[in-house]
Amino acid sequence: MAKKVIAYNRIEEPVLQQLKKSYDVRFFKDIDPKTDDEFLAFLKEAEGIIGLGLPVDSELVQHAPNLKIVSNISVGYNNLDIPTLNKHHIMATNTPDVLNDTVADTIFGLLIATARRIPELDQLVKRAEWTVEALGSEYYGTDVHHKTLGIIGLGRIGQAIAKRAHFGFDMNILYHNRSRKKDAEQAVNATYCEMDTLLKQSDFVCLMTPLTPETEGLIGKREFTLMKESAIFINGSRGKTVVEQDLITALKNGDIKAAGLDVFEQEPIENDNPLLTMKQVVTTPHIGSSTKETELKMSKLAATNLEAGLNGEIPPNLINRELWQS
Ligand code: NAP
Repeated sequence: MAKKVIAYNRIEEPVLQQLKKSYDVRFFKDIDPKTDDEFLAFLKEAEGIIGLGLPVDSELVQHAPNLKIVSNISVGYNNLDIPTLNKHHIMATNTPDVLNDTVADTIFGLLIATARRIPELDQLVKRAEWTVEALGSEYYGTDVHHKTLGIIGLGRIGQAIAKRAHFGFDMNILYHNRSRKKDAEQAVNATYCEMDTLLKQSDFVCLMTPLTPETEGLIGKREFTLMKESAIFINGSRGKTVVEQDLITALKNGDIKAAGLDVFEQEPIENDNPLLTMKQVVTTPHIGSSTKETELKMSKLAATNLEAGLNGEIPPNLINRELWQS
């Protein structure tokens, strides 16, 4: 009998069809995984899960006695309770690298759009409010080139952002990680510094860490106060790395100038979130990696991980690798 696999939330169609040739795959979307009877019944038999953002915690694992692998179609894996998966000897995989350039394009695009106020001015043109040839200084933007970009989380994606900033925009780059990355420093002429120094000196602060217990609420009131009043804050990591209420207050008080946000505390964002009515805030709906080409690469890589795990092999992107090496 074919092994049972749950496909969840988002997977590219050609990859789903390919998987269906070898496995008994059931696709679930827009369900509550805690209460959906059909999902829970299938989960009981499932050996694999592939998809985006399914919260896999001890409660879910209790319903999944046959589960061998959870293959995330994302590089971030804050939806997975890794200690629980370790306890039950379930593999966890993600899709790093194939999305670096695409996410960096999105985040750098957001940075430019925020600095040059592109969405706001696009709306002005479309509302037929461009009534004088030369708009006044109240519509001026902020330069990006030759400014200082501070990247918190200079990892795979952070480095791709830094490359664009250094080679394309002659920016000065500061970064903060828990550990120094000397090869990256050389590649893009980046300077390592403590977080507070980065916050005080950067014109643009870009957050690109994973969401972990350590990074949850990493940027809040204290950090916004340290930033320049002219600073533009960009979040491409996960919504919960920022205390959103503190961001709202910092924008209202003028502690910082503007923000470009691809991720939010609650997704989809609530209709009454004050961020949605702030002109100085540019939003995108968590679309960092969402291009046709890259989503297909991510789905394919996730399928490779899934198949390896189901065959009892070590998948190329095994997160809890230590478990299989011990
Ligand atoms: P990565 O290569 O692991 O890079 C993460 C970086 O964050 C590392 O340089 C790491 O350095 C640093 N970091 C981790 N914990 C930290 C802490 N407590 N304080 C300071 N720095 C810390 O990961 P990646 O592939 O670049 O992806 C990063 C994240 O981007 C993902 O986890 C995901 O949440 C997010 N993402 C968002 C989108 C989107 O659509 N917006 C798309 C893809 C990814 P150290 O280990 O030395 O601290």
